[in-house]
Amino acid sequence: MKEVDYLIIGGGYAGTFLAHHLLMKQIPFILITDQHESASRVSAGMVNPAVLKKFTTFWLAQEQIELLHEVCTEIESYTGKNHLIKETVHRIFHDENEQRLWLKKSEREDLAPFLNPVFRTFSTIRNPHQTGEVLQSCRIDVSSFFEEVHGYFKSKGYLQHAHFNYTEIDLKQKTYRDIKFKKIIFCEGMKVRQNPYFSWLPVHPNKGHHLTVKLSSPLAFKATLKKKHFLFPLNKEQYYYGGTYDRDQTDDGFDQNAIAQLQAGLSEFYPHPFETASVHYGFRPTVKDRRPVIGAHPEHDFMYVFNGLGARGVLNGCYFARELRDHLQFAKPLPQEVRLDRFEE
Ligand SMILES: Cc1cc2nc3c(=O)[nH]c(=O)nc-3n(C[C@H](O)[C@H](O)[C@H](O)COP(=O)(O)OP(=O)(O)OC[C@H]3O[C@@H](n4cnc5c(N)ncnc54)[C@H](O)[C@@H]3O)c2cc1C
Repeated sequence: MKEVDYLIIGGGYAGTFLAHHLLMKQIPFILITDQHESASRVSAGMVNPAVLKKFTTFWLAQEQIELLHEVCTEIESYTGKNHLIKETVHRIFHDENEQRLWLKKSEREDLAPFLNPVFRTFSTIRNPHQTGEVLQSCRIDVSSFFEEVHGYFKSKGYLQHAHFNYTEIDLKQKTYRDIKFKKIIFCEGMKVRQNPYFSWLPVHPNKGHHLTVKLSSPLAFKATLKKKHFLFPLNKEQYYYGGTYDRDQTDDGFDQNAIAQLQAGLSEFYPHPFETASVHYGFRPTVKDRRPVIGAHPEHDFMYVFNGLGARGVLNGCYFARELRDHLQFAKPLPQEVRLDRFEE
C-alpha cells in the first residue's frame, strides 16, 4: 500500500498546479488523471490581466500574475524549461471610440499597469484603428507545460494515467486501490458532473472551440493579436485562433456555427487566404458569480473539490491551488469569495 497525504483526481490546470504547490513543500501526493482532451489542453494558455470587451481588469489580477511568474520559475527548476512565453496581447481596435476609451481607461490607477497608452500598427493584418498593448500579458506554452510537468511527475511516481473509478473509494479506510490517503481532492473540470459526491455543485459548461490554421502570409512579428478571439503562433507553420463561448451547447462534437464564427472572425483582420488545419473544443467549468469553488464535502471532511476556474484556468488554477494547499496544510482560511459553503443552505 502506498501512503500519501493527498490524492488528486484530474490533471488540468487545477490538479497540476495543486500538485506543483505540494511538491514545493515536499508534501507526498499522487495525481490520477486520464488523457482525454481536457479544457486545459485545448486552452490558449493566455495570461491576460485585462478584460478586452470593456477594457477593465479583475479581482487579484496583479497578485495572480506575479505568483504565476514565480511558479513558472519553480517549474523550470525541475523541468529545465520556462513555459511562459512573454509575447504581449495587442487588442485590434474596431473604431476611434475604442481608442478613446482605452486612452481614458489607461489613466486610471488600477488600469495603468495593464493598458499601454502608446498604440501600434502591424503589417500583414488589417488594423486601420491601430492596436492597444496589454502590459504584463503573456501565455503558457500549453502542450509543453503539460507534457513536461506531467512527464516529471510520472518519472517520480507521483502521477498515474488512468480513469478514477468512484466506486472503488473505501470511505472508512480512506483508500483507493493500493493508495492510502489522508485527503482526496477532486479537480475534474466539467467531469465533476459524474462525481457522485460533488455533482450537485452549480458548475456549468461553457463550450469553447479553437482552430489551428495555416496562414498564407505568416506574421513577421512576435505578438498575440486579439479582435474577437486570440491569434498567435504555435510553431513555424501553425497558428492558434480561438476560442468561442457557448453556454447552450453541452453536447460532445464539433459545432459548425462555432467553426464558421472563428473563420469569419479571423477573416475580419487577416485579409489573406488561410487553411483550417484542425478544430478542437473543450468545456470551461464556470460558476455564475465567476469565482472558483473550493472546499470540503459537507459530510465527508476528507473530500475536497477545486473547480470553477472559468475562462481563467491558468491564473485561477495557479493562484487558488496555493490557497488550497495553505488551507489544507497550514489551516489558512480560504478566501470567502471562493468557498464552497456559499452554495450550502
Ligand atoms: C477553447 C478554450 C480556450 C481557453 N483559453 C484559455 C486561456 O487562454 N487562458 C486561460 O486561463 N483559460 C482558458 N480557458 C479556460 C481553461 O481551459 C479552464 O478554466 C481550465 O482548463 C479548467 O481546468 P480544470 O483543471 O478545472 O479542468 P480540466 O482542464 O477539464 O481538467 C480536468 C482533468 O481531469 C480529468 N478527469 C476528470 N474526471 C476524471 C476521472 N474520473 N478520472 C481521471 N481523470 C479525470 C479530465 O479528463 C481532465 O484531464 C480556455 C478554455 C477553452 C475551452
